Amino acid sequence: MARVHHVKEILDALEALYGYEARPASDFRYEEPLDDLILTILSQNTNDRLRDIAYKNLRERYKSWEETANADLEELKEVIRIAGMSNAKPLRIQQVLADVRGRFGCYSLKSLREWKQPEVRGYLTSLPGIGSKTSAIVEVFDLDMPAFPVDTHITRLSKRFGWADEKEPPDKIQSRLEAKLPKERFRGAHLNFLAHGRGICGARTFSCAGCTLAPWCALGKKVSVHGAA
Ligand code: SF4
Repeated sequence: MARVHHVKEILDALEALYGYEARPASDFRYEEPLDDLILTILSQNTNDRLRDIAYKNLRERYKSWEETANADLEELKEVIRIAGMSNAKPLRIQQVLADVRGRFGCYSLKSLREWKQPEVRGYLTSLPGIGSKTSAIVEVFDLDMPAFPVDTHITRLSKRFGWADEKEPPDKIQSRLEAKLPKERFRGAHLNFLAHGRGICGARTFSCAGCTLAPWCALGKKVSVHGAA
């Protein structure tokens, strides 16, 4: 049974390694939350480099979200093809833009800053292709609301720390961690987890020797007993 243990020790150790909690929120904030929402759609099932190229292509080809919303779908597919899911993503982006325009009368999500957080999550997750992780990214980075997005890296690390059961899906883990971790640490801790997962604690390769998280990590303890990695 998963138990969220040694929270302070683990978050402190990650902060000592990567230091994202000390960085100002403005470093990661999009003035227009819709920009980050579209960027996050582009990031689904691809890496940051390809996501960023696709986003750059998109912003260079279309001067506004209105132009993107009204773009020829086949052309839009070509513009962002590098990000993969070349049928789903363009359609999803245009559907999201149409919904935002219909709801707010413009291509902006700035007014979400005046909403209560449960309503924000309810609205964003009602959009096509937007789940609780994507919503949480916009909430915590762009709307200054307490949310802890759980992606593939945080899912993996949570399982290694025993914070999640082996077959537990990310949205369930996210609900648990949002209830158990200190809200004021969400943003920086999320980024620290990502840095660790992308750096030394990958899915197939992990460098447990010398990892300061090993005392609280089931895999790290196993490896130190068996002397591998
Ligand atoms: S001890 Fe190994 S598996 Fe555990 S967090 Fe560190 S690198 Fe990852």
